[in-house]
Amino acid sequence: MLVGFDIGGTKIELQVLSDQGEVLFKLRQPTPGDYAAFLIKIREMLMDVENKIGFFGGIGIGLPGAICPTTGKMKNANCTFLNGRDVIGDLCQATGKTVRIANDANCFALSEAVDGAGGGGTVVFGAILGTGCGGGIVVNQSIITGANAITGEWGHNPLPGYNPETDGDIGQCYCGKKNCIEQYISGTGFAAQYNHKYQADLNSQQIMALVDAGNEQAVAAYQLMLDQMARSFASISNILDPDVIVLGGGMSNIERLYQDLPSAMNKYIFSNEPKVTVRRAVYGDSSGVRGAAWLAK
Ligand SMILES: [Zn+2]
Repeated sequence: MLVGFDIGGTKIELQVLSDQGEVLFKLRQPTPGDYAAFLIKIREMLMDVENKIGFFGGIGIGLPGAICPTTGKMKNANCTFLNGRDVIGDLCQATGKTVRIANDANCFALSEAVDGAGGGGTVVFGAILGTGCGGGIVVNQSIITGANAITGEWGHNPLPGYNPETDGDIGQCYCGKKNCIEQYISGTGFAAQYNHKYQADLNSQQIMALVDAGNEQAVAAYQLMLDQMARSFASISNILDPDVIVLGGGMSNIERLYQDLPSAMNKYIFSNEPKVTVRRAVYGDSSGVRGAAWLAK
């Protein structure tokens, strides 16, 4: 029995999975406003699990943020009261369980690698293309965390093959650098490019509806974004050569990407006949909490 938590800014989701990945129990609670209340809330939710399902050994936690490898404390969490805290140590003490933590993109990749769209792949790259652009790498069903806990954060690499004339100057990213991949191929980035170029105020779904209707300017914007995405993922293939690339987040709902992206990537990959498999995530919003549960294994 595996217990996973997905800690969000507004809600905490818990799922209990069987060793085969079947959902045995679910619970959702609002995220408390401070650290002490957070520790109590997690303990209460676990007591609920033990009362209803029975005893278990450890828990996995997924959240936007990472444990700093130098200090062992939480950093970059969107639940800001967690930052600077020894979350693993404090939760072990509060709950009496072993605790494993990974960021949400890594949990997403793990969930999809174990029994989702990447199932069976030795090397899986999972990318969440939504408001931002996160990534995770799973090898033999184990997350690669990295020396700085930033593995998979390729969204803040400079856009490969950047050409100011065709790609445009999108300005500074919140991370402090310029022309990051995230600024072009996340849902927000795709829309920002379009809106800047055509003085519009549309989101990525509205632009894709125009593409489906054959609107010339929207089709051109999609083709440019597709090429930017192809360059970005080809850079992953040339380093990691994953068996499967799994897409999550809002942009993963663009059905034509699964046809268009592999062939668009081919010309940027260092192989005569590259075989690239790009799949949509199977578990959608549940990937984070499922991946957290697999962490506990
Ligand atoms: Zn950036």
